[in-house]
Amino acid sequence: MEIIRRPHLMQQTALDLKRDRLKIAFVPTMGALHAGHLSLVRRANQMGQVTVVSIFVNPTQFGPSEDFEQYPRDLGRDVDQLKELDVDYVFAPDPADMFPGGSGTYLYNETMSNRFCGKSRPGHFRGVLTVVAKLFNLVRPDFAVFGQKDFQQAALIKRMVLDLNFLTEIVLCPTVRESDGLALSSRNIFLKPEERQAALVLHRALRGAEAMVADGEDDTEKLAEAMRETISGGPLVRLDYAEVADAATLEPLERLDRRAVALVAAGVGVTRLIDNTLLEPPEEKQ
Ligand code: AMP
Repeated sequence: MEIIRRPHLMQQTALDLKRDRLKIAFVPTMGALHAGHLSLVRRANQMGQVTVVSIFVNPTQFGPSEDFEQYPRDLGRDVDQLKELDVDYVFAPDPADMFPGGSGTYLYNETMSNRFCGKSRPGHFRGVLTVVAKLFNLVRPDFAVFGQKDFQQAALIKRMVLDLNFLTEIVLCPTVRESDGLALSSRNIFLKPEERQAALVLHRALRGAEAMVADGEDDTEKLAEAMRETISGGPLVRLDYAEVADAATLEPLERLDRRAVALVAAGVGVTRLIDNTLLEPPEEKQ
């Protein structure tokens, strides 16, 4: 496994691999790797002949009052985990090399960026889309693997690939959870024991919505309201949003007449957590 720090060396390596007609599968991450990230790497290993994992805490997707400085970083441990998994290249650039002073070109999506997490975190998805586009230009992936855990992010990236004709196939992997249902997240290490317990309310709210749908509920506002009540009723938790939207476009939905997604976000102590689940319309269920 080779560790590449410089963007231009990553790009040269990728171009050499493409010249040899090797298929590149890519997993972008911010490091502090957990079993969720590793599931994406295993999937990438199945998709391509060469696997590249990037580890880059992207400053442009954090707001001024957010946790960029505190975000967990442990490159040594990440590298050890990736060595076990047959990864060919780890790309771990410095922010100063990725965003040399004066760069002023950004990507954003005019309709999907400003709702849900984008509303609470202005500029977040502009930072995400810009860095993913840069990473795609440096790594030249045939496949890029993302987690359903960050559903809005994945939807935006799929849309970017479609709108701008990137030659990368986006592959989505299911959310990996703790045995009690908490979605794995690099930020979970910030949770104190009582907050860790309180955080389960997000998963409980989503399971509640699934149960209502199984009982025939198709009014999305009722589903969203029930999730809000569950989350607001929990201790130590500040609801950010709980919504149901069209899974493909993230547009609001009145009735569950197509594939939808229930999305939740909440603050627990100093930590912001998100989660989601797909909701299938009743008639598509067998
Ligand atoms: P991050 O390092 O948080 O930027 O995440 C990098 C990738 O890992 C993204 O595609 C995430 O959606 C994915 N990911 C994060 N947590 C999980 C999880 N619990 N299960 C599956 N994928 C995840």
